[in-house]
Amino acid sequence: MVESVTVEGDFPDPSTLAWDAATGLLPAIVQDADTLRVLMLGYMDRQALQTTRGKGQVTFYSRSRQRQWTKGESSGNVLDLVGIETDCDADTLLVLARPRGPTCHLDRTSCFPDAPGDFLAELDVLVADRERERPEGSYTTRLFESGVRRIAQKVGEEGVEAALAAVAQDDQALLGEAADLLFHLQVLLRARGLGLGDAVDMLRTRHRRPVGAASAAIRDSSSGLSLRSRLKPLLQNPRP
Ligand SMILES: [Zn+2]
Repeated sequence: MVESVTVEGDFPDPSTLAWDAATGLLPAIVQDADTLRVLMLGYMDRQALQTTRGKGQVTFYSRSRQRQWTKGESSGNVLDLVGIETDCDADTLLVLARPRGPTCHLDRTSCFPDAPGDFLAELDVLVADRERERPEGSYTTRLFESGVRRIAQKVGEEGVEAALAAVAQDDQALLGEAADLLFHLQVLLRARGLGLGDAVDMLRTRHRRPVGAASAAIRDSSSGLSLRSRLKPLLQNPRP
């Protein structure tokens, strides 16, 4: 008996699914819960779905081996389950998971070599790895070792540099400074035990607010005003 694992997201009721009448299977598309990259396609029967939920690791029915197969059972590159969505006809599953290593047996992240993913989310995972492992010679390691105050100072500098580049109408410089700002912001969040995803969740929560509340928030944008007042000297002297 496998101990049940708490799943973060939704999980479908097996009795509501349109299992294939001939094979008893459903196709299951696996997507990285953080980078949203499509990782692979497999098939599940009822038992595989039940095991996936119980173990918290994505388990398929292997049509070639004709048996249940937990992805990564031999390689160790398992897929930790986050949640499962069902499509409109309830005949395909979308499995959200966090991979522990390459999903494809060819040592690739995805079985689809060029499957698009969210690069910022990937960078966030890399920054978290650096924070944990602190590899020598890495700039990110040096930042973490310098402490939150120093990283915070870097974020402030990059923010001002981005603002100055925009005011100077230098788009190339603006892009460079914006990239620096995003990266250092990711490091700052991680230094406080947070991820960029947490900030994105905050944005999402605000976006979901009722229309009236959102427009009221914009009207009464005190933070927007104070930012504007801070940038005022820059705006008045666009070419320093
Ligand atoms: Zn593959």
